Amino acid sequence: MKARYSVIVPMFNEEQVISVTYERLKKVMDECGDTYELVFVNDGSRDRSVQMIREISDRDECVKLIDFSRNFGHQVAITAGMDYAEGQAVVVIDADLQDPPEVILQMIEKWKEGYDVVYAKRLKRRGETMFKKVTAKIFYRLLSSMTSVDIPTDTGDFRLIDRKVCDVLRGLKEKNRYVRGLVSWVGFKQTMVEYEREERFAGETKYPLKKMIRFALDGITSFSHKPLKIATYVGFFLSFSSFIYLFFVLFQRIFFTSWTVPGWASIVGVNLLFNGIVLMLLGVIGEYIGRIYDESKDRPLYIVSETKGYHNDELVDRRKDYKDVR
Ligand code: UDP
Ligand code: MG
Repeated sequence: MKARYSVIVPMFNEEQVISVTYERLKKVMDECGDTYELVFVNDGSRDRSVQMIREISDRDECVKLIDFSRNFGHQVAITAGMDYAEGQAVVVIDADLQDPPEVILQMIEKWKEGYDVVYAKRLKRRGETMFKKVTAKIFYRLLSSMTSVDIPTDTGDFRLIDRKVCDVLRGLKEKNRYVRGLVSWVGFKQTMVEYEREERFAGETKYPLKKMIRFALDGITSFSHKPLKIATYVGFFLSFSSFIYLFFVLFQRIFFTSWTVPGWASIVGVNLLFNGIVLMLLGVIGEYIGRIYDESKDRPLYIVSETKGYHNDELVDRRKDYKDVR
């Protein structure tokens, strides 16, 4: 029988938390009194996470595994989970128990009331560095000031979506994905529940600064052209001020010839400043062009090396003729 609820858990090197996460999710989902599946998407972990899920899946048939051939990133892992999920309602949750599984029950209540998307807004974030909290706050506000899509602030990917929303999302094939933005973009009847984000149960964050910056750039470039417009505005502003300055220079040259010799400092200064700005704006354009390039290559979003728990399913069917002869 098809599961009514699917819970997607992306994981990347989470051996320290994964069995506790499973226990807690199972306890919560058993309470909701309907069929469910727990879809663990292994995003190229190099530790024991996969073996652990395999073992759990051997004794619990609710547990399914999608194993990537390498690390494709958190957002892609969520996308794969949505591709494979079969539930009428699909929940995305982090593996590290920062999103308390108990909140899922509240989400399900809202879903039963008729909402298609129930996202979870963080009132507080525990156990995260000051730097992360501040940059996250700034980022969410910056993003919402830049885009016309109403993306809720302080909201992660912890949410429940209805089957029809999931199907629409699966049809969006963009590569540098910012899933929480896409969920807002598709619309439908949305609501929220509030919660306090817990400390990571064990292990450390899998989002180092580099990934965070990439993620932030994906969010902004996927949902806003403002940075490109900024280039135009800055260009206009600079041309206008240079024009005024040119008048000033000519005026000096004509009426106060003796003043024009010293000026090395201002030339170098203006040069450095303008070159810096031009390079920065080229960089902005480059970010967009790089993303256009990614789209045009049209590679698949992810590669699955193994699935487990999908009995007599069409996904397994595709692989049934494959024989490893080693
Ligand atoms: N994650 C992933 N691939 C990655 C990075 C993270 O699947 O490349 C998963 C990770 O295992 C966790 C979730 O994404 O389940 C959120 O990551 P994390 O808790 O490290 O981020 P933070 O909460 O610190 O922002
Ligand atoms: Mg976390």
